[in-house]
Amino acid sequence: MKKDFDVVVVGGGMVGLATAALLAQSPCRGHLRITLLDAGKKPQFSIDNEVGLRVSAISRGSMHILQNIGVWQPILGLRASPYRSMRVWDSRGSVEGPDTLHFDAAEFAVPELGCIVENVLIQDALLRRLESMDVEVRFASPIASISMASDKSLIDIQLQAGRSISADLLVGADGAASLVRESAGIPVRTWRYPQSAFVTHVIPARHHEDTAWQRFLKEGPLALLPLGDGRVSVVWSTTPDKADSAMSASDVELAAMLEQASDEVLGKLTIAGSRGSFPLKSQHAERYVMPGLALVGDSAHAVHPLAGQGANLGIADAAALATVVSEALLRGEHPGDLPTLRRYERERKGANKTMLHFIDALNRLFLNDSEAAANLRGAGMRLFNRSGPIQRRAVQVALGVNV
Ligand SMILES: Cc1cc2nc3c(=O)[nH]c(=O)nc-3n(C[C@H](O)[C@H](O)[C@H](O)COP(=O)(O)OP(=O)(O)OC[C@H]3O[C@@H](n4cnc5c(N)ncnc54)[C@H](O)[C@@H]3O)c2cc1C
Repeated sequence: MKKDFDVVVVGGGMVGLATAALLAQSPCRGHLRITLLDAGKKPQFSIDNEVGLRVSAISRGSMHILQNIGVWQPILGLRASPYRSMRVWDSRGSVEGPDTLHFDAAEFAVPELGCIVENVLIQDALLRRLESMDVEVRFASPIASISMASDKSLIDIQLQAGRSISADLLVGADGAASLVRESAGIPVRTWRYPQSAFVTHVIPARHHEDTAWQRFLKEGPLALLPLGDGRVSVVWSTTPDKADSAMSASDVELAAMLEQASDEVLGKLTIAGSRGSFPLKSQHAERYVMPGLALVGDSAHAVHPLAGQGANLGIADAAALATVVSEALLRGEHPGDLPTLRRYERERKGANKTMLHFIDALNRLFLNDSEAAANLRGAGMRLFNRSGPIQRRAVQVALGVNV
């Protein structure tokens, strides 16, 4: 069977685009013909458009990877909002209380803990980079299924449009409902939460002080993430009923709901953005790889947004897979060989699993309204605050502040 491409990436979200760009700039690029297919419309960023509703807290680790791809400076030059502090507290206490977790960039000798960036801006920057590297990206090209070619050395990808293409390596970056994963028969473990994430932007009466604020309520955390124009991006994990009410409330009603949920930490709020709501779950694929196939990003693992980790874990997957594939090519190995791909799985699956379980446990601990759980939270936060090196290491891992 004739091979059309060396690598086909399915999914043009932040993770699929980053994977394609990292592979395209590998030292073996001369050997690699890469294409990326996405079911949706081409994402387009314009500085004249409103700040997009979907933003991500991008860790310093991800900033470093995006820098290596050559897109971080263009992103910074457009609309990235650094955050220099974080405050996390329980609704049973107050933001000024002894149990509040407080981290500052200065403690870690870095200029910022991370940056809040619009998802569409990251995608747009990566797309421009791929264009400059002559990687073909096709939107409105949903795939229908995948199969192993008869000679077992190639993967065959059937497009909904009717034709098929073949490749040595298929990268599934097609999100949490991944068809690549399903077609490959890779089982996934799912944890459903009685929560949806409601998102919007607001203007706070008090300046956000370049701080990411997070208050844990009994139905889930409310995050207020600083934007460069003085607004804050709200991510409110709450019951699906409350998220529905927030979607249909008037601006005045919604502002009152968010002021109550935030304990007015930034004073009165004025709604200044569109709204969205997303049902929440965590999931983890049992395997990330098969011969000729690797999963990256949300297709491999989806996490609760409370720690702002989903895209960051996916970008780290992209970097690990690109390194493993490049090294294999340099050794003259086939990029879709299972031993090669297992190196990627070994590097990422354990780390992702640890983060997924940690975030899941944190969410459950805060969802538990019993006195015992509240005491445990308070004691845990106090202990963590005083734990010095442990606290330092945990923040370094979570925020990637050691790079
Ligand atoms: C409210 C909320 C807040 C969040 N905040 C943060 C944060 O602060 N920091 C952070 O790191 N993460 C955050 N996340 C998580 C983050 O958004 C995701 O982890 C990340 O977007 C996943 O990227 P991806 O590229 O893997 O998948 P996706 O963004 O889901 O992209 C998948 C792509 O695959 C395409 N596709 C799907 N099916 C097909 C098909 N059959 N054929 C072809 N293409 C297909 C889709 O069109 C899509 O473009 C948040 C998530 C939520 C819900």
